[in-house]
Amino acid sequence: MYKFIVFNVREEEVDLTLNWAKANNVEITFVDDQLTMDNIHMVKGFDGLSTSQNSPVPKEAYTLLKEYGIKQIAQRSAGFDYYDLEAASASDIIISNVPSYSPESIAEFSVTSALNMIRKLRLIDQKTQAHDFRWQPSIRAGLLNEMTVGIIGTGHIGRVTAQLFAGFGAKVVAYDLYENDDAKAYLEYKESVEAVVEVADVVSLHVPATKDNHHQFDYEMFKQFKPSAYLVNAARGSVVDTKGLIKALDEGLIAGAALDTYEHESTFIPKDFSETTIEDELFLEVLNHEKILFTPHIAHYTDVSVRNIMQIALNSVLEVLETGDTVNRVNK
Ligand code: NAD
Repeated sequence: MYKFIVFNVREEEVDLTLNWAKANNVEITFVDDQLTMDNIHMVKGFDGLSTSQNSPVPKEAYTLLKEYGIKQIAQRSAGFDYYDLEAASASDIIISNVPSYSPESIAEFSVTSALNMIRKLRLIDQKTQAHDFRWQPSIRAGLLNEMTVGIIGTGHIGRVTAQLFAGFGAKVVAYDLYENDDAKAYLEYKESVEAVVEVADVVSLHVPATKDNHHQFDYEMFKQFKPSAYLVNAARGSVVDTKGLIKALDEGLIAGAALDTYEHESTFIPKDFSETTIEDELFLEVLNHEKILFTPHIAHYTDVSVRNIMQIALNSVLEVLETGDTVNRVNK
């Protein structure tokens, strides 16, 4: 029976991990913390290792892991920027990630956020709470099946999102650096981001953060949106220039924004600030803005995602032990 050590486990992950272990005849030991130089000695005697790092793994860790007979680290997220891939390879440590765990989760949330804004649910809720039950133009809505939706990034998540919007009867247009032939069955590619935003009633972002798209959605870009358009960002905060967005919202250049990410969110998410003063003025503006629906990077957070992230990572550990490699390897 293989023995795995699994770091940084949340309480909600314990049962599903134990179920996986039983089904795969593996013995699991849990550690609450991330892998650090202080606790790395705990790895001795185990066959496999999984963690969910959100702080860097120091170079020395890889040589030590090799000494302990460990062949891999299975990271439980899509991102793997906390690893030094070269240092890991130099010590023959395979780093794997979970490249796609439930695109449907983020896609459904993006559509939900768009519909929330289109149907003016927040305003309706405020009025209902105040016992104002009148039907008034301020809460009258448009229909998705008369709208054009723009998808920026047609990878795993963008394509599912496009299909869901198309299922509501929306016309879907899109931009990606690389067009996907299969997606042309339900969307029409445009030649640029600008060509998408100028015709879209909803613009939904599904690109990774890269050095090329930092603040791509800035005040100048919002000038090219329809004034009635809504922005959905369940991708990465840095793609949107938050100051430029707020200026555009205040000047009526766009109608509203659903943000599941914020460019400086790492201080706050996922933590409890209910008893702590938030000093980030820009974040407070986001939270208090009547045209912004902010959610704390929650789009992925579903039962399916939580289960898939753990299972796919542990399957990668097993794959390395049984075959010497894994399809989810990220270092050469
Ligand atoms: P993916 O790699 O499958 O797709 C990304 C697509 O974006 C690719 O088709 C790529 O060609 C395209 N792209 C990259 N840079 C571009 C650019 N500058 N302009 C246009 N297109 C560009 O990734 P995915 O699994 O679909 O995830 C998309 C993003 O969703 C992730 O990078 C991440 O930022 C975000 N995400 C958010 C959550 C959440 O909970 N909010 C969860 C998971 C992922």
